[in-house]
Parts: sequence; C-alpha cells; structure tokens
Amino acid sequence: MLDSTIDTLRDLLGTDVVSTDAEVLASRRRDYWAASALREWRGDTMGEPGCVVRPRGPEQVQDLVRFCGANRIALMPFGLGSGVCGGVLPTDDVVLLDMSSMSRTREIDEHDLLATFDAGKNGLEAEEEVAERGFTIGHWPQSIAVSSVGGWVSTRASGQFSTAYGNVEDIVYSIEAVLPDGELVHLGKAPRAAAGPDLRHVVMGAEGTMGVVTGVTFSLRRAPESRRLTAFHARGATPTDSMALGIEAQRRIVQSDWRPPVMRLYDGSEVARNFPEHRSGDDAALLMVHEGPAGRVDAEVADVTRIATETGLTVADAGMVEQWLESRNHVPTWTDFFERGAVVDTIEISAPWSRIVDVYAAVVASLGQVEGIVNASAHSSHVYRSGINLYFSFAVLAEVADMEDRYFECWHRTMEATAANGGGIAHHHGSGRLRIPYLHHDLGAGGVELLRTLKGAVDPAGIMNPGNLIPPPPR
Ligand SMILES: Cc1cc2nc3c(=O)[nH]c(=O)nc-3n(C[C@H](O)[C@H](O)[C@H](O)COP(=O)(O)OP(=O)(O)OC[C@H]3O[C@@H](n4cnc5c(N)ncnc54)[C@H](O)[C@@H]3O)c2cc1C
Repeated sequence: MLDSTIDTLRDLLGTDVVSTDAEVLASRRRDYWAASALREWRGDTMGEPGCVVRPRGPEQVQDLVRFCGANRIALMPFGLGSGVCGGVLPTDDVVLLDMSSMSRTREIDEHDLLATFDAGKNGLEAEEEVAERGFTIGHWPQSIAVSSVGGWVSTRASGQFSTAYGNVEDIVYSIEAVLPDGELVHLGKAPRAAAGPDLRHVVMGAEGTMGVVTGVTFSLRRAPESRRLTAFHARGATPTDSMALGIEAQRRIVQSDWRPPVMRLYDGSEVARNFPEHRSGDDAALLMVHEGPAGRVDAEVADVTRIATETGLTVADAGMVEQWLESRNHVPTWTDFFERGAVVDTIEISAPWSRIVDVYAAVVASLGQVEGIVNASAHSSHVYRSGINLYFSFAVLAEVADMEDRYFECWHRTMEATAANGGGIAHHHGSGRLRIPYLHHDLGAGGVELLRTLKGAVDPAGIMNPGNLIPPPPR
C-alpha cells in the first residue's frame, strides 16, 4: 500500500487508529481457517494487509468506507478472527478493518428484553453482561470466547442451544451497518415487519461483502428456571443404522413439538473418541439439555424419554452431558495436529430428515477413500422440524507436501457427496473463500447470479472483502 494512502488515512482518522506496525499486520494475516494455518505453519509466504484500522465508532467506519470507495481500495472487516472458511485473507493492497476496537455495550433494556452492542464486542463478554442481570442471549457457539457479535451476524452463526433458541437470525432484533457508499443504516425497527423484504438479510451472512456491521441488537431471554440433562444409547445393526435410529428419535421428539435447546447425536466413532468411558459397542449416543420453566422441563423429560425408548433407544448416563457441558468451548490448535503429521477439519452441512442418513453414509464412505484417512465421523447438533444438521470431522495422515491436497480432497468429497444426496452444503460456518466452488449446489445458477447482481448494486466499486463468498462470473 502506498505511503501516501496511509498518511491520508492517518490524517482522516488519527494516527493511533491506523497501524502499520509489523506485529499488528502479522496478527491480522488470517482467520482460523485450517488451510491458512497450515500454510503459515509450513512457512509459506503469507499476504498481510497494507494497514490495520481500529475505528472508534460508526462515524469513523463511514469515513473509512467513503475514502476506500472513492479510491477503489479493498476493505476487509475482521471481527475476532475465529472464522474457519478463509473469510479473512488480506494482501498488501487491502485495508483491514479491525472491529474489535468497537466493543462497547450500548444498552440493555430489561423491559423490552433488548441488548445492543458494538459489533466488535466479544461474544462471551456480551453473554456474561446480560447474565449478570438474569438474562441470556441464548447464542452459544463453541467459539463464544473468541468470536464477536458482528462476526456472528456476518457468518449466520449457530449456537449450541439453537434447537430451542434459534440460530443468530432468530435472535437478532436489529442491525446497524455502514453500506459500501458510506451510508449508516438501521435495519429492523419492530419485533416483526412486512414492510418489504427483510433487509437485515442483505448483511446477515454476507461475510463482509455487502458492508460493515457496526452494531447489533439481540432479543434476550430470561435465564431458564430449570435445567435437566438426559442421554440415550442408539444401537442398530451397523454404525449407520445406529445413527439412523438416533436421527429417527430426534425427528419424533421435535415433530412432537418438544424443543430441548441442546440435542446432539454422536456416531460410534465420536462416542469412542469423546466419551470413551460411556462407550457401548458402536452405539450412537444422543445427549440432550432441557431448559425452561420447571413444569415444562419435567414434562419434556418424561415425554422425550418415552419417545426415545419407544423408538428403540436405551437410557444412558447423563454424566456424558455434564462432560460435554464442561468441555464444549474448547478451541483446538491446528498446529498440534500438523506436528503429528495429520491435517484435520470439521464440515457442517444439513438435510431434510428423508435425506440425512444417505448424506451421512455417503460422506463417511467417500472420506474413507482418501489416502491416509484415519478418521471420518459425525455428530448432529442443530435440529429442526423438517431436518437436521451433521458436523463431520476428518483426520488424514500425510507428508507435509501432501497435506494441503488431502485437505481439499476431503472438503471436495464432503461437498459433492452432500449435494448429490440432497443436502445443503453449509449449515453454520459460512462460505468464506473455501466454499465458493460449491455455492451453486445450494443457490442454483440463478441464485448465484442474483447474489452477484445484489453485490453489484450494493457495492458497485467492489471494495468490500473482494474474493470472498461470491463466485466470480463465468469466463
Ligand atoms: C473452535 C471453533 C469453534 C467454532 N464454533 C462455532 C459454532 O459453534 N457455531 C458457529 O456458527 N461458528 C463457529 N465457529 C466459527 C466462527 O467462530 C464463527 O463463524 C464466528 O461467527 C466468526 O466471528 P468472528 O468475530 O471471529 O469473525 P471473523 O472470523 O473475524 O470474520 C468472519 C467473517 O465475517 C466478516 N466480518 C466479521 N465482522 C464483521 C463486521 N462487523 N461487519 C462485516 N463483516 C464482518 C469477516 O470479513 C469474515 O468474512 C467456530 C470457530 C472455531 C475456531
């Protein structure tokens, strides 16, 4: 980036807001994407931003966006960098907009149950602040301690308690954002609206390509009165049959209108890895957390137990759920795996009930053909009336030179097997740069074109996180 550009930015925003410090630039080279971590660990030359801007408020974001628009400079928002799909991958012609400098709690309204935060607010800190007053946001991604509320919105994130409390789009009340022309907009005014399309969704899930989220208002819940835990074993003739049985139990529970906030079904391989002392052959294990008014929780536990056992599951030790609750916010370090000669990742997809077992079997079988594969497993963690997600984990042993190829082969096989069997290729981690080649499976050719048209209209200069999310036009 030209020195003159940086000087002008410093004049515009203040010297302390614009950094070219080598350590700061190096710390903003990438998000948590395993492929970026692998390249860095291998010692590849990594791009880094031309400068890092840490704005003090929405007005400075507006000034910066206008400057970048007028000068055709690319701008890449960064929340807390926990994204796992390569949404943040700057080069030296990019201004990296580090939103973690905007981390205020703006308001907690105990009457309307609304809490408003700056977009860079750390998720766990936001949750702890509302919890002190007896509320919860109800959004608990595994990465809650290392992600921002603006990042949640920008990636359409899901929390572990989503089956009752919804995904981030169900919890967000309104969004404040700076559009690529510098305009500050407030999207969402009342609890519900039929005033045209829901414009919050132009920025929700846009991964920094349609503007900058500067503030988020969540609709809170009162902390639940009661919590109970249940667990079940599901045994079929094969590991796939065991998963199918557990999936069927979840379908019946949710379609009976029970909503345990947490429902997680682990296949036999994941039970052996995560809960070895609770293992029962190759059984799958269904873990549930039930929350709400005590009477409803008791009724839910009784009826869910009836449904599960009538489906063929057997009651297991709920200590398994306690163990999960204690370890659920663990953030793995990729380099530990690389040093042991393995490349690993997780891939989340979803499908209607009628397709999900085929997706599970096809993905596990396809991953099993990758040279060096030592693990291909899955659990489900988000349940809906019409279907469910799966969260695949893979681990491949490879020479350092082959790790990246194996990594992308595992992704390719999972994306193609999911799409071929009627599943959706992205449940909650977003697309980033990683899923671009597969987005057409979910959106169709017409949907991809619509996304490009929208991007062209909202960001005609193409300054917002170029190269992310949106497939390039065919040549
Ligand atoms: C161990 C681990 C566990 C995880 N568990 C979950 C989980 O349970 N559920 C889940 O949904 N995800 C999970 N994730 C993924 C990740 O935490 C989420 O995608 C999260 O929402 C990203 O937030 P962030 O602040 O770190 O965003 P970043 O990684 O900084 O950015 C993500 C994308 O959003 C854009 N962006 C960020 N902030 C803004 C903004 N203010 N305005 C516009 N664009 C912006 C960036 O440009 C980028 O494209 C996990 C990640 C890890 C490493």
